[in-house]
Amino acid sequence: MSGHSILYLGSGEFAADYLGELETLPCCTYLTRSTTMELPDDASFIVDLIILEAGPSIAQSGQSLTDLINSLAPYPVIALTRSEYEHRGIAAVRAGAQAYISVDNISVEGQEAIFDHAVKRADMQSRLSSTDVSVLSILKNINDGVIVVDSAGHILDINPAARTVLGISARMQPDSSWEQTFCCVDEHGENYRNSAELPLMRARTGEKYSGQIAIYRSPEQPDVYLSINGQGLYDGNRELIGGVITFRDVTESQRKTVELEKRAQFDELTGLANRNLFVEQLTRAIGRSQRKSAPLATLFIDLDRFKSINDTLGHDTGDALLCEVAKRLQANLRVGDFSGRWGGDEFVVCLEDFGEAGNAAAAAQKLLLVLSERYQVRSSEVYATPSIGIAIYPESGTSADALIKAADVAMFEAKKRGGGRFQYYSPMLNAKLEQREELEGGLRHALVRNEFTLHYQPRIDLTSNRLIGLEALLRWQHPRFGLLPPARFLPILESSGLIHSAGEWVIETACRQLASWQRRFELPDLSIAINLSPQQLMHKRLVDVVAKTLTDTSLDPGCIELEICDGEMMRHRENEHGILRRLRKLGVRLSLDHFGTRDVSFESIDSGFIDSFVLDQKLIADVEDNNSHQRIVRAAIAMAQGLDIEVTAEGVETVRQLEFLKSCNCDLAQGFLISRPMQPEKVSAILRAEIAGISLLARGMP
Ligand code: C2E
Ligand code: MG
Repeated sequence: MSGHSILYLGSGEFAADYLGELETLPCCTYLTRSTTMELPDDASFIVDLIILEAGPSIAQSGQSLTDLINSLAPYPVIALTRSEYEHRGIAAVRAGAQAYISVDNISVEGQEAIFDHAVKRADMQSRLSSTDVSVLSILKNINDGVIVVDSAGHILDINPAARTVLGISARMQPDSSWEQTFCCVDEHGENYRNSAELPLMRARTGEKYSGQIAIYRSPEQPDVYLSINGQGLYDGNRELIGGVITFRDVTESQRKTVELEKRAQFDELTGLANRNLFVEQLTRAIGRSQRKSAPLATLFIDLDRFKSINDTLGHDTGDALLCEVAKRLQANLRVGDFSGRWGGDEFVVCLEDFGEAGNAAAAAQKLLLVLSERYQVRSSEVYATPSIGIAIYPESGTSADALIKAADVAMFEAKKRGGGRFQYYSPMLNAKLEQREELEGGLRHALVRNEFTLHYQPRIDLTSNRLIGLEALLRWQHPRFGLLPPARFLPILESSGLIHSAGEWVIETACRQLASWQRRFELPDLSIAINLSPQQLMHKRLVDVVAKTLTDTSLDPGCIELEICDGEMMRHRENEHGILRRLRKLGVRLSLDHFGTRDVSFESIDSGFIDSFVLDQKLIADVEDNNSHQRIVRAAIAMAQGLDIEVTAEGVETVRQLEFLKSCNCDLAQGFLISRPMQPEKVSAILRAEIAGISLLARGMP
């Protein structure tokens, strides 16, 4: 703002020094003085602003302060006082002065702002229509907060009620940047994205509005919710010159509204989302899922026998149980998944980002297990197994309602089948689930029913072309599906924990078979490779089983090679390391299976545990034509030789593959070219031929 032409009224005794300084300030371009306390005749030419000494000279003038200030109209008056006489300044403002300054307590900038403000305010007041003047003066005295801004957003007036609500001291005069920060947060606590939505901005651009809820946020006090009305301010010619807002503190009623809204969205007993909120969240999740083209699952969970728990243990216990169920649900969902209470003992869950549709079963299984565990409610121990229905988007429904309905139908089906289980809505997934369940059920009995069997696949030494060992491969003679390869049932053995007993059976059977062949054909060096699942390496019992088998069969431990396939595991896990160390102490050999396709570090190969590795058949399958695989195979064999590690190539199907492996000095080979895996009786025949000097390779070759 440029400087002002100032008329100084007063004797000057009150502020002699100040008067001298005033002339030198940039905000004062022209200074004239009058000790008579009257406007000079040519005032309209020279005066922007009057500084009135609120000191003894006023008293001497014989006029009341109000009369004096009124007589100076329409010029803006700023009272001048000293800190010790501040009351005089305040009295002057009450009497109509725009502001006051204390000469001993004012900075150059502060003074400049006050002068500007006073001039602008007076200018606007002079332009207001007479109606507006009277309306404004009424507004200023009402209980609502009132703020007046000019067309540039400068705050020209804040009434006492506004200062109280906003916690602004009587002396503080907000600058124009305040327009941007005043109530810039909406009722949800979000910043307005568009400055045109700011309350002061809306008003001064002439918009008339009422009931805008916004939050007044300041570091000194808790958030205040304001309900704001605004409108433009016009001069006598109906030209927009600013805006005025009135507002009141609605924090209390707002808090109640939020509480009511919360109550309308959350279940009072468990604190989970209620039906409305869950459907709303599910609808949003469906939208996300659609955009990502990823499946989404809705689970409908109902507790079996809840009614009888309620009836026998009482409603309070029933309620406490529902709270516990809700807690377990929440604790066992992944971040991003959400749950709700559908009603009574019914809960709903939405799962996102779980990969294949079939994976929802794993999540349902986990929930089934945790919800089935014992509950301690009040002084009772309660068991409540759930029945869970699963509906997958988009197969089972494309809207929240359709999905929930489908999951409900599936839950009912799970109940019909005895409860304590889950069920898909989709027939295709159900068929898969049923097959898996049938297999899992069958696997539990496979051992005692003698349905497992081992096939053996020969391994030959590539220098001598002689059979030197066999790999034991598990098969399951299923009563309905026939002979099943490991791919069909190994994952179930592993996930159900049945792998331990099945694995022990494999070790014992393979070793007994080897001992029998060694004796029968006098082949003391014949070796056997036995596959281990990662889970088996976590159990110390494995070491005992191997030790006992060695004792029982009197086999040379060096003839037994245990194949493990998780290179990563060997690096990190102390427990497994301990088990591997103890296995090696028994004298058995350890081999890394599927080498070249899994993550295996040099560190794990050179850890001293590994005697050999098996090059994966994926590498060998196209080694004739794939240069990269050729290089990998060559490098792996060269590295193994350096580390004194034996290499077996698996999946050898062609003569060219075999020749390539020979050219790389690979130690051993195994594959359909040499022999398919076969029943023990057939192996016996081959061994017989072997000792008669007929090489398997020669027989197998076309
Ligand atoms: P693996 O250890 O890599 O076993 C070799 C697999 O390759 C066997 O499949 C075998 O039949 C197959 N194979 C052998 N030569 C050829 C060939 O020239 N071409 C082709 N295409 N395939 C060939 P299988 O018997 O189905 O076993 C699959 C996997 O199951 C095994 O892979 C092993 O990781 C696992 N496994 C087998 N038996 C057991 C067991 O008793 N316990 C554990 N934990 N895993 C086992
Ligand atoms: Mg193997």
